Amino acid sequence: MAILERILTDLGFTCRRMPFEGVENLYARRGTASPNLCFAGHTDVVPTGSAEAWTAAPFEAEVRDGVLYGRGAVDMKGGIAAWIAAVARIGEVPGSLSFLITGDEEGPALHGTKRVVQTLMAEGEVVDACVVGEPSSSQALGDMIKIGRRGSLNTWITVHGKQGHVAYPDRAANPAPVIARLLARLTEHRLDDGYPEFPPSNLEITTIDIGNPATNVIPAEAKARLNIRFNPTHTGDALIAWLNVMAGEAQAESGLRIELEHLCSGDAFLTPSGPFVTGVQDAVEAATGRRPEASTTGGTSDARFIRALCPVLELGLVGQTMHQIDERVPVAEIEALTGVYRRVIQTYFERTAGRPAGLTSPAVQGSAGR
Ligand SMILES: [Zn+2]
Repeated sequence: MAILERILTDLGFTCRRMPFEGVENLYARRGTASPNLCFAGHTDVVPTGSAEAWTAAPFEAEVRDGVLYGRGAVDMKGGIAAWIAAVARIGEVPGSLSFLITGDEEGPALHGTKRVVQTLMAEGEVVDACVVGEPSSSQALGDMIKIGRRGSLNTWITVHGKQGHVAYPDRAANPAPVIARLLARLTEHRLDDGYPEFPPSNLEITTIDIGNPATNVIPAEAKARLNIRFNPTHTGDALIAWLNVMAGEAQAESGLRIELEHLCSGDAFLTPSGPFVTGVQDAVEAATGRRPEASTTGGTSDARFIRALCPVLELGLVGQTMHQIDERVPVAEIEALTGVYRRVIQTYFERTAGRPAGLTSPAVQGSAGR
């Protein structure tokens, strides 16, 4: 964060460190005019795993045969470096450029982008569009952008019965058939038939636990957990309400108490086709010769928070080695991504402000007097 603050200050940005509960965040902006095009990223990384299994030290950023090795090379310090390099080469834009960089994306994501977005919205900061530098490319640079994500809901189910001897079932209440019936009904229910740009929503039972070692004992309780990946047909709250109704019915039928706990880690969202998405696709195609597929696949990202602020999409490096041992990226690919980002910025301002970016002389790194 200190390095970013120094470089961005040199490039004429006004930097604000925004720490929340010990999480480092940075919002930087150059210019006051609209439109404001934002780049979002994160500096935190997932753990290295066994450091001995790496062929390079995970935090030395070793370049070997033109390939940069290190945790975060792909996800996503490479992306941050590429956007900064693009900004440094492009000079002034007819509007504003900003950075939203967080230190808590791979972790609980409570005090990172979410808090910065809340704060900026409360202050009335206007952001018109945002590119998240996640490694969105699948096989080749620029072959895919992410324009939305499915939502994710986890639910823990506990059915409370009464323990007893299997030979005297009238003195016990078995929770096993109750949870089995409930789970069968939940999985048989068709949530939807899909949504434009999204596959059908999907409910998966992820575990069923009774853990009864005895052959002659009716268990006291039965537990299960499920995960729903859902498209914008649903909200997390609506799915929670449906699950509660289904459990309530099973409870009324069986007379056994059923407890549910839910955790929704993000609602589904989609940045619909429009000038922003099309402009980015055109720019990527112009820079790489490849028109990126607009996809909604994959896990969640901080885009789920930024969408409250403005249209958002993800565009970045090829994600093949992210989160792996020997995470790495060819230096040439970071350079190519810089060219892609530069084109994205130029196209955005050409089409929204009516004037191309970068007509003034390029910013000189470290120059004073801005
Ligand atoms: Zn990431």
